[in-house]
Amino acid sequence: MREYRILHLEDSHSDADVIKRVLLKANLNFQYFFADDKESFIRGLTDFKPDVILCDHALPQFDSVMAFDIYKEMKFEIPFILVTGSVSEEYAVEMIKKGIDDYLLKTNLQRLPQAIKSAFDKRENEKKIKEGIKKLENSESRMKEAQKIAHLGNWELDFETRIGIWSDETCRIYGLSPEDNKQTFEIWISFIHPDDLEYVMKIVNETQKTLVVSKMNHRIVLKDGTIKHVTSESKFNIDSTGKPIGIYGIVHDITERKKAEESLRQSETNLLAIFENTNTGFLLLDTLFNIISFNNQINHFAKILFGFELQGKQNLISLLLPERQKEFAGMFSAVIKGNNINNETSYPLTDGSIIWYHLSGNCVLDTNGKAVGICLAINDITEKKEAEQKLEQQNKELAISNTELEQFAYVASHDLQEPLRMVSSFLNLLEKRMDGQLDETNRQYIDFAVDGTRRMKSLIMALLEYSRVGTNKEDFAPVDLNEVVQYVTNVLDENIKKNTALITFKFLPVITANKTLITHLFLNLVNNALKYHGDKEPVIEIGSTEDKDWYIFYVKDNGIGIDPKFFDKIFIIFQRLHNKSEYSGTGIGLAICKKIVEIHKGKIWVESEPGKGSTFYFSIPETKHNA
Ligand code: ADP
Repeated sequence: MREYRILHLEDSHSDADVIKRVLLKANLNFQYFFADDKESFIRGLTDFKPDVILCDHALPQFDSVMAFDIYKEMKFEIPFILVTGSVSEEYAVEMIKKGIDDYLLKTNLQRLPQAIKSAFDKRENEKKIKEGIKKLENSESRMKEAQKIAHLGNWELDFETRIGIWSDETCRIYGLSPEDNKQTFEIWISFIHPDDLEYVMKIVNETQKTLVVSKMNHRIVLKDGTIKHVTSESKFNIDSTGKPIGIYGIVHDITERKKAEESLRQSETNLLAIFENTNTGFLLLDTLFNIISFNNQINHFAKILFGFELQGKQNLISLLLPERQKEFAGMFSAVIKGNNINNETSYPLTDGSIIWYHLSGNCVLDTNGKAVGICLAINDITEKKEAEQKLEQQNKELAISNTELEQFAYVASHDLQEPLRMVSSFLNLLEKRMDGQLDETNRQYIDFAVDGTRRMKSLIMALLEYSRVGTNKEDFAPVDLNEVVQYVTNVLDENIKKNTALITFKFLPVITANKTLITHLFLNLVNNALKYHGDKEPVIEIGSTEDKDWYIFYVKDNGIGIDPKFFDKIFIIFQRLHNKSEYSGTGIGLAICKKIVEIHKGKIWVESEPGKGSTFYFSIPETKHNA
């Protein structure tokens, strides 16, 4: 049974007892708090926490009006029942207006228990209704919020009034403010995108006939021209006679999703275009090496390799030549374990030729990092391989012919010395024997012949020197070119002094080179710069620059210069631009320079203008050499 907590404001103890007895008699289960002034009343409110107040009208220095004001101020919402002796009707009406729950005269107390129960139940009901309203309001605002988040609105249309009620979100989707929530079917139709109107009307008409739920995707055009994609779904409201009296439904704004789908589709199309139009063949295998997917280029390979196009779902290993199956299965298994493939290999074709291809393979992992397949990329490199092989063959042949040429030059120059020595010895003998018998002309002839043999000897020596360049097997090693140039100027010191030449050199790098050959190279170039100085005193500069992967060295002089039409000729063996009476020499120096530079995988060239001096350049790659 419910227990009431009764706070009783009453200055008469005997009245209080009477009231308590009435309540007990009526079997009312209650706790009782007696207050007879303002303080005890307030204490009763705060400490006792009543759920019913019984209040007498007049107390010394306190009364029911003041008590009611305190009760209101403290925001109590419990029954407040006035139980008094006789009071004026006016006062009673006033108190009822103020909001008391009931009014009883002490002379008529038998109604009190029921009055307490009723006032209490009334208050409880009001509380429940208030809570219910609040809950409803909450859920409605939550629903509105949910609709906003989901871009999902609802609406309903009454066939009789022809008025449609749109939810806040439906209004927002259609670009309207939530106040414009009363719309007609015709207005809704005016929003439909012209290209979708026929489709929408068809569904609307069909639905009207069949009365089944309809769903459609279409576009709407807002007043500001914005186009949106929506999904609409509707259902009929049917009355008890089976007659449709309205229609209701939802509208879902799927514009963002459509945009995302479109951009996904576009990027898929782009990727596919790349995938299908590349020269690389791509192949996706599962972990058992079954073909899952491949691009056009793979079919090109398949036709060459197997003579047919791939069907998909075939096992790649089973398509290969039996003698290669183990090798590829091993390779693919290794990929699954994380060892990627990156190699160049060949495969025999049915016509007996060979295809060379570059194969790379990577393991495909799922989101948990588990291997789920292999992605292979294949490139036909047959042309490149054949070109490489051809080049290799040519290099081999060139090396053989160079060696043969060097051997020939060596043998020829070596073997020519012997008959030459014989000719000059016999000429000497003849000259001695005929001493005194030769006239001036004959003596001159013999001198010419002797001079000829001398020149021939120096040419043979030069040829021998040329053929020996490069046979020196000294290793390539770091060479400090500052030391080399210092050495060269020391060797040429006498010549430098004789010509009162000025030689300057900038700081030079340390390069990996054959020291003997590099020294020879600088010696020849500086020697020429000293030799071909003409009338001026020689001023020679030696230096270097760097260009990407190359060192570029130069020897610059202020000498007689060279006509550009001879720039190539001077590097050819025995080619000279002057006769020996003008400048001594054999024409071998620059040919040797060229050979030395080429041994170092570099190039040599000249820039010059007659009368203005020459600059000889040579380049040496910065990479390390091996002898
Ligand atoms: P040689 O000096 O024995 O004639 P080289 O092969 O060293 O042979 O030079 C070939 C020719 O190039 C020379 O005859 C000369 O005409 C020309 N030449 C070489 N160096 C210079 C130079 N520094 N200035 C002008 N001409 C040069």
